[in-house]
Amino acid sequence: MSAEAHHRGMKHAADLSGDVLVVGGGLVGATLAIALGRAGLDVLVVEHLAPPSTVVPAFDGRVSSIAYASVRLLEALELWDAERLEAQPILDIIVSDGTVRGGAASPFLHFDHGEIGTPLGHLVENRHLRIAQHRALAALPTVHLLAPAALAEVRFGPHGVDAQLADGRQVSATLCIAADGRDSPLRRQVGIKSLGWSYPQSGIVTTVAHEKPHQAIAQQLFLPAGPFAILPMQGNRCSLVWTERAELTPTLMALDEERFTAELAARFTDFLGDVRPIGPRWSYPLRLHLARTLVASRFALAGDAAHAIHPIAGQGLNLGLRDVAALSEVLVDAMRLGLDLGAPDVLARYERWRRFDAAAMALATDAINALFSNDLPPLRAARDAGLGLVDRVAPLRRLFMGLAGGDVGEVPRLLKGAAL
Ligand SMILES: Cc1cc2nc3c(=O)[nH]c(=O)nc-3n(C[C@H](O)[C@H](O)[C@H](O)COP(=O)(O)OP(=O)(O)OC[C@H]3O[C@@H](n4cnc5c(N)ncnc54)[C@H](O)[C@@H]3O)c2cc1C
Repeated sequence: MSAEAHHRGMKHAADLSGDVLVVGGGLVGATLAIALGRAGLDVLVVEHLAPPSTVVPAFDGRVSSIAYASVRLLEALELWDAERLEAQPILDIIVSDGTVRGGAASPFLHFDHGEIGTPLGHLVENRHLRIAQHRALAALPTVHLLAPAALAEVRFGPHGVDAQLADGRQVSATLCIAADGRDSPLRRQVGIKSLGWSYPQSGIVTTVAHEKPHQAIAQQLFLPAGPFAILPMQGNRCSLVWTERAELTPTLMALDEERFTAELAARFTDFLGDVRPIGPRWSYPLRLHLARTLVASRFALAGDAAHAIHPIAGQGLNLGLRDVAALSEVLVDAMRLGLDLGAPDVLARYERWRRFDAAAMALATDAINALFSNDLPPLRAARDAGLGLVDRVAPLRRLFMGLAGGDVGEVPRLLKGAAL
């Protein structure tokens, strides 16, 4: 019996069946489901959080820098409405060394959007992206979001995947994709090992209001504990990703408003005038992991389930969206050729396409973090010399901007802004 026949046959046995079962309806899983659903595939998404709880401001205070290739993908999926998303273009990025209370040294790296003729990226609150995704998911007739729902058991057979939800419902599909985040219970269950390590750092995230306009400039200040990113938002507001030594983080998180503001001000340059935090604080333990493989029998990993990286360059979600672009293209091409979506050679194409990019980005961000998160004079001199060189050589600078923008290697259709 072909996989297709088996799959269709199972429609009677299972309460719900689809071509693809996506476990995890976060930013990556939801985008993947939308891409596949728009191309006509039947998609089941199992997410253990109820949608309304993931869009309240207290759930996730992060603002994501969205590279320009990722913007093209979101446009192609009709998820990009700059006004609704309150997207803030990033025109320039300025990188400097600095010390706490000592302010920033003169910048050693300046990326100017004028050199590539397009904003270097956009900043969007994760919550706004989630709202856009929920709206799109609800409008797609072939996508079923099962949330809140938990997976109790999954069985991978030669022709299909059968799963049982905690509430007893049976679901089946031809292929199962784990987009269940960096701790991915499903990746562990399938037995895919990953390599990686924890950073002795946390990322503290909060939003500040400031006196002077930011002029759409993102600032990256390298302090001894790690990068301190000041990311422009609409209005006189910026989102901070403040990398701090992990052992200091609980103390900083517990400070009262006045002392927290003083600690913030000690790390800021004065280019924005007076600053004051608005809204809650979050802290995220930082970790790197890379799954040893992206695929197994009738199974694939996407997003943080496959790779989680240091947020130093704001690239984790962009990597996940590149997974979405490649995986959806591979699956839609297979569907059009009448192939089994879970066939090893179909999944191998995805693995080949994505393996290098994620590993390269993980290692590059790890090296930059190691080089910058310290105050050793020889390392300070080496990085100033290295990045000063990038700043002086225009083609090198444009190469860096292209890489950060997401135009790398063989670019999938969605990342070019084309339909699948
Ligand atoms: C401080 C910080 C700043 C960052 N800034 C940027 C940035 O500027 N730009 C950028 O590109 N990236 C950034 N990132 C990285 C980015 O946030 C992540 O890469 C991205 O959120 C990963 O999305 P995901 O959908 O793969 O995983 P997640 O967001 O972790 O989603 C996983 C989903 O799976 C669900 N789930 C988990 N287990 C189960 C289960 N058993 N059953 C059902 N559902 C389950 C969860 O509820 C969740 O909804 C940053 C990260 C940090 C920590």
